[in-house]
Amino acid sequence: MREIASDRIVIKVGTSTLTKATGELNTGRIQELVNVIAKLKKQGKQIILVTSGAIGVGCAKLNLPKRPTLIPEKQAVAAVGQSLLMGVYDKYFSTHDFAVGQVLITKDCIEHTRRYGNAINTLNSLISLGVIPIVNENDTVAVDEIIFGDNDTLSAYVATMVNANLLIILSDIDGLYDKNPSEPDAVLISNVVKITDEIKENAGGAGTAHGTGGMATKLEAVSIAARNGTKTVIASGECPSVLEAILDGEVIGTYFDLK
Ligand code: ADP
Repeated sequence: MREIASDRIVIKVGTSTLTKATGELNTGRIQELVNVIAKLKKQGKQIILVTSGAIGVGCAKLNLPKRPTLIPEKQAVAAVGQSLLMGVYDKYFSTHDFAVGQVLITKDCIEHTRRYGNAINTLNSLISLGVIPIVNENDTVAVDEIIFGDNDTLSAYVATMVNANLLIILSDIDGLYDKNPSEPDAVLISNVVKITDEIKENAGGAGTAHGTGGMATKLEAVSIAARNGTKTVIASGECPSVLEAILDGEVIGTYFDLK
């Protein structure tokens, strides 16, 4: 068993968890995720959700065969997808009588003291109101200089902003492996106290067409969150009930308690 403090939790769900291979939203899985989060909230947990998926959903809605590569097109598709995504979360959380609040962040929020303070105040106010903040990168205005590029890093900054005890990154893989998980002898690492050069060397990029950051950006996120004392668990988002098991202290996924 693990001893994990979890009063305030940031949960990040990746594109590969939220969408099907076709890019369409996996609404069944989102509904399960919402059900588990609602249950945890009713137990008194404070939860902030960081969600990807806007571009994937926008592509499916607009019947685009593949993700656009040009920035204005990506931004347009994200604008379509983001509202659909929020609509889905709102619909499912409403069945549990919870309201959601959309918070779109760009990297300059982190770099400008006033904007940073404003974003923190908004997040804390939403939490005080019992609302579930749903955070994403503001893809429609983000350009190269102000881009996080992946929600792993964004989720770590959000965890820092709200002083979360715990960051849970749900991915298409059940944790950090000691080498590329496509290798037959790759082994899952359950606990990490230091991100060594060896771990970094063996953490590659995204393995699927829809994933964005891969394990390298997740390790970066772990380090950012750890600077403020936030611990991280990386686990598979395939069965969202995994969240309950993690909070119950079951040894699932990879737990990062950096010393
Ligand atoms: P998500 O959309 O959930 O953020 P990503 O595709 O960005 O998912 O990242 C997870 C992927 O990272 C895995 O599916 C795997 O292919 C890849 N990966 C590369 N190296 C590792 C490693 N050492 N351990 C685990 N996953 C790894």
